[in-house]
Amino acid sequence: MLIVLQPDITQKQKNQIYRILREGGCIFREISEAGQCIIGSTGNAGRTPEYFEALEGVTRVVPVKTAFKLVSRQMHPEDTRVQVGSVSVGGERIVVIAGPCAVESREQAMAIAGQVRKYGAVLFRGGAFKPRTSPYAFQGLGEQGLKILAEVRETYGMPVVTEITTPAQADLVMKYVDVIQIGARNMQNFELLKCVGRLGKPVLLKRGLSATIEEWLMSAEYILSEGNDRVILCERGIRTFEPYTRNTLDLSAIPVIKNLTHLPVIIDPSHATGIREKVSPMARAAIAAGADGLMIEVHNDPDHAMSDGAQSLYPEQFSRLMRDLYVIAPVVDKQLDFSYLDKARAVDRMQKAGGGSGRRAAFLGDPGTYSHKACTQYFGDQVEPIPMSGFKDIYEAVREGRADFGVIPLENSLAGSVHENYDLLLEYDLRIVGELLLRIEHNLISHPGAGTEGIRRVYSHPQVFQQCRDYIDRHDWEWIPMSDTARAVKHVRDRGDVTEGALAGRDAARIYGMEILEEGIETNARNYTRFVIISGQPISGGEKHKSSLIFSTGNQPGSLYGALKVFADNGVNLVKLESRPIHGKPWEYMFYVDLEADVDADDFAGVMARLAEKTDYLKVLGSY
Ligand code: PEP
Ligand code: MN
Repeated sequence: MLIVLQPDITQKQKNQIYRILREGGCIFREISEAGQCIIGSTGNAGRTPEYFEALEGVTRVVPVKTAFKLVSRQMHPEDTRVQVGSVSVGGERIVVIAGPCAVESREQAMAIAGQVRKYGAVLFRGGAFKPRTSPYAFQGLGEQGLKILAEVRETYGMPVVTEITTPAQADLVMKYVDVIQIGARNMQNFELLKCVGRLGKPVLLKRGLSATIEEWLMSAEYILSEGNDRVILCERGIRTFEPYTRNTLDLSAIPVIKNLTHLPVIIDPSHATGIREKVSPMARAAIAAGADGLMIEVHNDPDHAMSDGAQSLYPEQFSRLMRDLYVIAPVVDKQLDFSYLDKARAVDRMQKAGGGSGRRAAFLGDPGTYSHKACTQYFGDQVEPIPMSGFKDIYEAVREGRADFGVIPLENSLAGSVHENYDLLLEYDLRIVGELLLRIEHNLISHPGAGTEGIRRVYSHPQVFQQCRDYIDRHDWEWIPMSDTARAVKHVRDRGDVTEGALAGRDAARIYGMEILEEGIETNARNYTRFVIISGQPISGGEKHKSSLIFSTGNQPGSLYGALKVFADNGVNLVKLESRPIHGKPWEYMFYVDLEADVDADDFAGVMARLAEKTDYLKVLGSY
């Protein structure tokens, strides 16, 4: 049940409620939701709701009707993020776990780990204790396999996941691995569930072959009731009458789970389909359906794999899939970060700006702007976002060391380049260290209970008005420009007038306690903004796929052609070319180029030298 407390409840009154629940054998926790303080309890200590409602400091009692309590969304309205080393499962970044079905040898595990890490996997999987249908089939390498997994973690900095099949293996898995997997066949092995509940390490709980969603969540409840709420749910296909796939992947479980529980959910398309060709389509669909991540079997020599070769992707197929997911993720408000692990490590190692306690990233506007969202999607919880009131302030803050990073919108797919930032990139000596594509969805936001019919005046950033042209043309309202979208929402909230609204993102509505009246009102749904991350120092480590340069050429025929020919002669693909006037030199221009290469790499030095010969001015903005 949920016990909703009065805002002015005293600590003594709370302690009294805690004592009754504790003596009644209940597990309980305090929740705060929309400014309300609530105690969530797994039981009622043998008392009626009226009993609790009569206690001092209690407003009312709401029963939790589902059989599962601790895993229920009611008891924990926010999404749970399960932290595994520097990886956060359940956040804005998609988590891809990859590796072979079983660890077969040191060489095999190392080779596969090197490849999947290169392509963007953040956790490595591999069974050491394999629950096989046949007692004569390969059963796994046991402790030797766990030692190999530990070596993979050492070498590649990837946390490792492996299955436990009996509580007798608890000491071993505690010693060597980061996430403990409960396999489908053990989903209702209650002694094993209680055991991993007590171990306290993150648990990946697979859905049983014929388990209902409720049975699956009850198994998670076993783990949480032992005090471990670091549980990741994994749908891996259920058994149906269909023989064309090994199992039937229940993607409809994703929205159901998201509604019922706060725990993250990932999809294992490998065991679900059992056939290599079916894995990538299902993986793409899973991300589109809102999964927090994937678990994929990859093998460097699947034809000779000791288990599950037929469903294991070749590393190249895995790479291709990851590129597809990178494109799909922004549509569902997420990111696939190819350098997740390298970035986390490099950021941790960087010297802190201003000697503060953590790293900080400056972004434009108030909390709840799209820039703020770009910041949290890029860094997760690793960096503290700092609001700034103008673009120049961001560059200043980074230059002066008041912020470690700046988050800069460079161009929008509908409205074009943000020219001020092109000029500032030239002016300041800072590096571009990363980039991010954010899908931009605009909403009409107003007070809770307000209706679109009553709206007369709407505030937002001028760029947003540009992107909602059709919507604006359809409404005879007054449109008032503001410095940022979040400020517009805050302004409307503070004025308390139900005839006013703001155009902004979903986060702004949530942060300021306002309501979305109409969603997705941008003229074209393919509305993306490309952000770059700037810093005073490069982020070291990891593969770099792109670079940005600025150059100018002499004012004679063929000079730009000469510079571009250097790229053409060396097979370098340009993805953007933009020109900007040079201040103080009318009709002379700087060229801004984005190219698909790492210009800092040793084997690119020759190209850069040739480019320098063909240009008057050449500045490297960064590789990322
Ligand atoms: C596995 O992940 O290798 C495995 C055996 O999975 P499941 O328990 O889903 O069959
Ligand atoms: Mn397998």
